[in-house]
Amino acid sequence: MPGSKSEITLIGAGLAGSLLANFLARRGFRVTVYERNPDMRRHAIAAGRSINLALAHRGLRALRAVGLDEPVRKLLIPMRGRMLHDERGQLALAPYGRTPAEVIHSVSRPGLNHLLMDAAEAAGAKILFERRCEDLDFDAGTLLLHDAPPDRRHPLKPGPVIATDGAGSAVRQAMTRRLGVQVVENLLPHGYKELTIPAGPDGRHLMEREALHIWPRGGYMLIALPNLDGSFTATLFLANEGDPGFSTLREPAALHAFFQQNFADALALLPNLEAEFYRRPTGLMGTVHCPRWHVQDKLLLLGDAAHAIVPFHGQGMNCAFEDCLILDQCIGKHGDDWERVFAEFEHLRRPDAEAIAEMALENYVEMRAAVRDPKFHLQKQLGFLLEERHRGVFVPRYSMVMFHHLPYSEAQRRGALQQDILDDLTRDAHKLEQIDLERADTLIAQKLGDCPSVT
Ligand SMILES: Cc1cc2nc3c(=O)[nH]c(=O)nc-3n(C[C@H](O)[C@H](O)[C@H](O)COP(=O)(O)OP(=O)(O)OC[C@H]3O[C@@H](n4cnc5c(N)ncnc54)[C@H](O)[C@@H]3O)c2cc1C
Repeated sequence: MPGSKSEITLIGAGLAGSLLANFLARRGFRVTVYERNPDMRRHAIAAGRSINLALAHRGLRALRAVGLDEPVRKLLIPMRGRMLHDERGQLALAPYGRTPAEVIHSVSRPGLNHLLMDAAEAAGAKILFERRCEDLDFDAGTLLLHDAPPDRRHPLKPGPVIATDGAGSAVRQAMTRRLGVQVVENLLPHGYKELTIPAGPDGRHLMEREALHIWPRGGYMLIALPNLDGSFTATLFLANEGDPGFSTLREPAALHAFFQQNFADALALLPNLEAEFYRRPTGLMGTVHCPRWHVQDKLLLLGDAAHAIVPFHGQGMNCAFEDCLILDQCIGKHGDDWERVFAEFEHLRRPDAEAIAEMALENYVEMRAAVRDPKFHLQKQLGFLLEERHRGVFVPRYSMVMFHHLPYSEAQRRGALQQDILDDLTRDAHKLEQIDLERADTLIAQKLGDCPSVT
């Protein structure tokens, strides 16, 4: 490949930066990653960002491309479906997929990040910690770094820069300041708080291990994902203002009453509720719309820096990992013609980033409210039945996003056609037996007949 020894600078050694460093180092580029935080493999990181995440097919596929899917497997706990907890503590498992193989996986964020950094370094990438990017001067081609220690700023003249510095990207802010790029950051009026359900006395999980637990309460919800050590990380998603809202839970008595009323079975498993609730920060969530992701052959934004989304589809990291794979494919095509690589990446990825951003917002309503509606479950069952009858043609939207890798924008388009079919078929039905399957076949042929098979 021409120029295969050119040097690439990454900003941020989070999930996307660490995986991308693997892709680039394996192609023979000299890769340097500047990370603002101390090395998390040696220093405990402060609580804040989600402690565990859902890894799905797209993320695993990108990991497989650099040979890391197998090493990552030992970090994973499969989650077969949503375990719904109602107000009386009754449980119901709603499977994610049609077959037992269709699962998503709970993974520890630091565990995964460690593994990716170790592998990147083994592949030849250099990761420099406590180096914060403060500015990028596009005319002069200089990057301003702050080294701590020794609390010193110094400019650098890098080659191509790829910014993987997350939702609050300093590089994206430099694009706004210096190039007038108008970024829209739509903050959700809801925040989140992480809590711990510790392991039982024998180190075992105190609830079903292989499920994503949800306490859907209409306008808000509690969820919990399993960890390998027998604990669960629970997250409360709630409005910041209003009642109930984080602002009305300032007193411990109000907090306990709120949990007692809404999440009584979880309350019994949260011995440190009060301490964690008041000590830990309330997280922000939002969607970043940045109209420009690259500047000539100088800079590309990737992952959350380009397109942060709300967490309700469990796809932010998966999408960032898929970004790495697609960028690698663009490099495979154009070598180190960075302007073409960056332009093609942006062209390919933008519609998909917009689609998953919208679907992630819709999924908040699904998780906290729609799962309480019997019609939702009827449509889920019908979706699986139609998938069985029309393999590769009718595939539930959730499955297209989580278990397949057709572009997100295509999943969204087909999902809308399928939703019309489901709405039509369930208009007057309450049970699966009442569905007119011949009409279903006709509608599917009419609406999805031209669609290529889902891979
Ligand atoms: C509550 C919550 C739950 C989530 N759950 C899921 C899930 O289940 N599944 C899923 O796929 N996604 C999930 N996500 C989304 C996921 O966390 C992000 O999409 C993912 O972390 C994006 O990776 P990234 O590398 O782009 O950004 P980050 O992971 O944020 O990494 C950015 C890195 O850049 C560094 N950095 C920042 N600024 C600078 C600077 N100026 N100079 C140098 N370094 C810098 C940071 O320290 C960090 O290491 C969730 C997000 C939240 C908030």
